[in-house]
Amino acid sequence: MRDVIVIGGGTSGLYAAYYSRMRDLDTLVLEYHEETGGKAKVFYPEKELYDVPGFSGITGEDFVYEAQKQTDLLSPDIETGVVVEGVEETEDFVTVKTDKGDYTVASVILASGLGAYDMVPLPLEKREAFEPYSIHYTLENRDHFKNKRVAVYSNFRIGIDWALTLEKEGATEVYLINRDETFRAVYEHDEDQLAASSVQVFRNSDIEDLDGENGALSEIHLSNGETIEVDHLLVYEGVNIGKSFYKDWGLDVEKGRVVVDTEMKTSKPRVFACGDAAYYPGKTMLLASGMSEAMTAVNSVKQLLVPKAPPQIYSTVVYKHDKPGEEKEQ
Ligand SMILES: Cc1cc2nc3c(=O)[nH]c(=O)nc-3n(C[C@H](O)[C@H](O)[C@H](O)COP(=O)(O)OP(=O)(O)OC[C@H]3O[C@@H](n4cnc5c(N)ncnc54)[C@H](O)[C@@H]3O)c2cc1C
Repeated sequence: MRDVIVIGGGTSGLYAAYYSRMRDLDTLVLEYHEETGGKAKVFYPEKELYDVPGFSGITGEDFVYEAQKQTDLLSPDIETGVVVEGVEETEDFVTVKTDKGDYTVASVILASGLGAYDMVPLPLEKREAFEPYSIHYTLENRDHFKNKRVAVYSNFRIGIDWALTLEKEGATEVYLINRDETFRAVYEHDEDQLAASSVQVFRNSDIEDLDGENGALSEIHLSNGETIEVDHLLVYEGVNIGKSFYKDWGLDVEKGRVVVDTEMKTSKPRVFACGDAAYYPGKTMLLASGMSEAMTAVNSVKQLLVPKAPPQIYSTVVYKHDKPGEEKEQ
């Protein structure tokens, strides 16, 4: 039986897995998406972060890259594309129920944020012919769009952000298609920046049809009768978030999140939580706090499984002679 399953491979889950390996725990991460990284990767890969300790500015995408690189040093097992559907605890173990089968494990760390979410897809059946090569739902891999003609389809402010970022980063043509007149949650200065840019905006225009060959998009036909020639289409239509499942899993919940104490213990003795999944008075939903809580959750798991183990360790001591991933002296 494994020592711990970390549910969720966002930044909190990745760090929990890394630190758990540092504490010599046999660890498996189960992640719903095909890729790890969580919100930082999906929602703001292109944005600069200035509130992550130790970085004087790093994009969401680069931060996730560094987090994954660090995690890989200690090689926890990671399975992606797995939906965790339930967590059942007995006195001696936990059963983690997933769409791929059940896992029996000594403990669980919930790093599953507010639950699984998906980007709302472009509402056209034909989209499938162009995903994922030409139609995208996040602004990851921005180099991909350099010297390309790119359309953004969104009626959210994020659409303006993406269009301006693409312009700045060297897309040859940038189009912004909004089926409405205005953008949701927009500030005046966003519209001013858009007006001052070279982005060509189509308002009150919907996408009616797509054309292209072998997965490569070449034309977008708009409801106003115009056709745009493009290489890529970025879509932001919002996010589908499933309802919070923690209560159904028998956990104490507040504001849709799992109530924890200062040791990240939940109402179930073998289940711990960290990151956006966790709730306690004063909780902040930030990358750094999630990772710090991950560390506390792992130390609590270690205490549960090996009561004589020290409550914490220093990496400067553990890796006095060898680097993480190499043979180490305890
Ligand atoms: C637009 C935006 C901007 C932000 N800006 C900042 C910022 O500037 N600075 C900052 O510090 N923080 C920022 N945050 C907050 C920060 O992104 C979160 O606090 C952080 O991502 C939480 O990480 P997490 O790993 O706890 O959760 P998440 O990143 O949500 O990861 C949870 C993971 O669990 C997976 N999962 C969920 N349910 C299941 C299931 N049933 N089975 C399997 N897997 C599951 C999900 O797919 C996901 O990958 C921002 C958030 C948003 C939305």
